[in-house]
Amino acid sequence: MINFKKQVLETFTKYAQIESGSDFKSKTTPSTQTQVEFAKVLKADLEKLGLKDIKLAPTCHLTAKLPANIKGKYPVIGFLAHMDTYPEGTIGRKVKVCLHPNYNGGELVINKELGVILKPELSPALKKCVGHDIITSAGDTLLGTDDKAGIAIIMEMLKYFTAHPEIEHGDIRIAFTPDEEIARGPDNFDVPAFGADFAYTLDGECGDGIAYENFNAATVDIFIKGVLAHPGQAKGIMENPVRILADIISKWPENKLAETTEGRQGFLTFTESRADFATATASVMVRSFEEKELRAMISEFENIVADIRKKYPGSQIEVKTTYTYKNMRPIIDKNPTAVKLAKEAFKECGLDTDGAPIRGGTDGARLTYMGLITPNLDAGYATPHGPFEWASLDQMSKIINAIICLCEKAVK
Ligand SMILES: [Zn+2]
Repeated sequence: MINFKKQVLETFTKYAQIESGSDFKSKTTPSTQTQVEFAKVLKADLEKLGLKDIKLAPTCHLTAKLPANIKGKYPVIGFLAHMDTYPEGTIGRKVKVCLHPNYNGGELVINKELGVILKPELSPALKKCVGHDIITSAGDTLLGTDDKAGIAIIMEMLKYFTAHPEIEHGDIRIAFTPDEEIARGPDNFDVPAFGADFAYTLDGECGDGIAYENFNAATVDIFIKGVLAHPGQAKGIMENPVRILADIISKWPENKLAETTEGRQGFLTFTESRADFATATASVMVRSFEEKELRAMISEFENIVADIRKKYPGSQIEVKTTYTYKNMRPIIDKNPTAVKLAKEAFKECGLDTDGAPIRGGTDGARLTYMGLITPNLDAGYATPHGPFEWASLDQMSKIINAIICLCEKAVK
């Protein structure tokens, strides 16, 4: 096992200092110009390593290839990581990377003055990292290991392969992508041009191993037009959209909400609402690992709405369902090579292989349905998107070893 801790810290620190937050409100592609500037730095680093076919698309997708150094027909393996960091607490802020060597298992004091102190019970992965070198921000920003840890891990793998031409590998494809945090990552990703047989996103939390199961997702939008009347003379006439919406919301069973479910349970949750005398709108998020359960929850919700319609016959109550992403598991089950290889390599490098199913989506889920099988790998970070974000250098080092091992296994 090679110790990559020093190099990966150096590489990560360089990238962490470059602002690259995405922006929910932006209508441009990519959502922010800072991502383009960051992509240019990465492009220069890939050029320095001598990679081939380096392309920075106008959409800010940066791709490159490390050509095979062995003859024969072997799978082309892709590695992906996203360049953007979470918008909140990122834009216009400079990240300072702080090292906490040899973590002792107690509270992780990130910034005493600001009260940013992480209790290990709030981040279970931390308990498995006693003795590790941990990195955090200075507590006034997020750290950005989501997903610059993934980028640094991929870069260290490439450096290792280019420095050791005697280690045989097939074609390796790299993609650094924009706007994952605002759910636009796979938009404009050119799967045929990427040309990998399968790929991995390096964007998982510390100890989560190889993740290839995620939610099926749908959004239900509600639109209500009530019956207006002067409140003083409204008896028997008014149908108030504020109450109609409240009726719908209150009818949904309490044991099927985001705040009352965990593990493999699905849920429906209200994400947005607006209502007045004349109209009301609301958005509902529906999530389940099973497509059947997802559809059943949507029909259960539509039945509630149908009942409410009877109660307010003069009103117009409409619902519209949009399916947003799907669980990649059924496709992985039919094409197990990518997961099998990763599991073998992770096991050999002393890493956990089986994480919990992802109670969310990943870029990989959408890519899998676009034709590129893409499970998600541990990238060594935890509690992202805020000042408590941390990562283990020891874990990142092991992951670099594991993906090198994975590429070697693919040509054996
Ligand atoms: Zn991420």
